[in-house]
Amino acid sequence: MVRESEVREGEIAVDMPAARDAGLVFIGRIRTPWTSRLMTPRQGRHDGPVCRLEIFEPWVPAIKGVDFYSNLEVIYWLHQSRRDLVLQSPKNNKSTRGTFSLRSPVRPNPIGTSIVKLVGIEGNVVLVRGLDCLDETPLLDLKPDRCEFTPLAPPQAGDFETE
Ligand code: SAM
Repeated sequence: MVRESEVREGEIAVDMPAARDAGLVFIGRIRTPWTSRLMTPRQGRHDGPVCRLEIFEPWVPAIKGVDFYSNLEVIYWLHQSRRDLVLQSPKNNKSTRGTFSLRSPVRPNPIGTSIVKLVGIEGNVVLVRGLDCLDETPLLDLKPDRCEFTPLAPPQAGDFETE
């Protein structure tokens, strides 16, 4: 893990407020070939290696219907990230960008998302391509890619609001 006292030229770190429990639960863990952040892709690719989403009990029945979709959105907790940088220098060249203008893993709530290709389902394991996270990264959620998903529930008023 990067030591939180270390900042690159131009970067700004802040004192992190005490974490409050947002009520998140890890619904599984992600198994990937990568054990070093330096070897991990910056963004996953759909022709990348097959990775395993191991779903924990009691969430295994929630996999039902996932195989209807070819693309899924995976949401995960980048657990080894520091969380205190507001300005970052991704290129380490004195030039900085605000954290919210980046997809850096370093952010106040280190949530990562990827659109992945479904490869298959084996019991409690969903096999996908397109991830970019370390082995053992905690899994927060799994949902159909919004482009493929049509709501099953009937429409409601807000669906027709414009402006
Ligand atoms: N695709 C996600 C997104 O856009 O939200 C994550 C992108 S982030 C740039 C991917 C990088 O995060 C990897 O290249 C690696 O350096 C780092 N990373 C991956 N898994 C991590 C983990 N569990 N904890 C901390 N950093 C991680």
